[in-house]
Amino acid sequence: MNRIVYVNGEYLPEENAKISVFDRGFLFADGVYEVAAILQGQLIDNEQHMNRLRRSLKELNMPSPADDATIEAIQKELIRINHVDEGVVYLQVTRGAADRDFAFPENSAPSLVLFTQAKDIINLPAARTGITIVTTEDIRWGRRDIKTVALLAASMAKMFAIRSGADDAWLVDRNGYITEGCSSNAYIVTQDGTIITRQLSNEILHGITRNAVLQLADKEGLRFVEQPFTVEDACQAQEAFVTAAGIFVLPVITINNKVLGNGTPGPISTRLRSIYIDMALKQV
Ligand code: PMP
Repeated sequence: MNRIVYVNGEYLPEENAKISVFDRGFLFADGVYEVAAILQGQLIDNEQHMNRLRRSLKELNMPSPADDATIEAIQKELIRINHVDEGVVYLQVTRGAADRDFAFPENSAPSLVLFTQAKDIINLPAARTGITIVTTEDIRWGRRDIKTVALLAASMAKMFAIRSGADDAWLVDRNGYITEGCSSNAYIVTQDGTIITRQLSNEILHGITRNAVLQLADKEGLRFVEQPFTVEDACQAQEAFVTAAGIFVLPVITINNKVLGNGTPGPISTRLRSIYIDMALKQV
């Protein structure tokens, strides 16, 4: 692939882009990231992604590599040089390189890496078919509200889903309640049409798409509550869906092999996907 990526001040062909083996992102997963969607070459909800990046950095007492305007200029330049019409731009900040020590280094220069990934979001085939979900134990750490690059537990959950023949996994806390998907927020719609998604806390990532979708749901007059729901609640649901920046809204058609509704994308999930796309297209 002859993609150009950004690494610490330079735009380079991806095969020439290098980071130190002492980078704390590599040694300690001491880094945070953001993924913003691109539609028609334009960033979607990027201000909210920047705000969340600032919060992640602050919570970890990590120095910032650049201000928002500089980071956004890099995002736009990568979209331009790589001719990305639709897809995502990934950005990662780490605490930088320092001799290996658990204590944070005093004066390390943070690393900043960005790259683009071209992909269909509006015409994702999974949006038409819906996706299948299996549940698995949430073994992640206690600060899931910080978007860190420590994604091994999420990656293991994804592999569990794939080995189970499902598309994705929902994670279950020790009380039997679903927290979120391994890379998305999770929602069910009850038989009486109420959307349920877990409330914001340290237990889940505060999804930018989640925030936008709940606002849109409110405007549409759809009923929603932010509270925990169990695996059993999910299996009894009329429909379900997930949200994330790189997929928008995706309907769920089975949970642990239990078919929801009539086994096709439900009307509320489909409606929310459609109004989310309308909202996003207004930004381009
Ligand atoms: N939860 C987790 C664990 C995630 O990894 C993601 C996507 N990175 C989300 C939720 C969705 O967040 P957003 O809508 O900001 O992409």
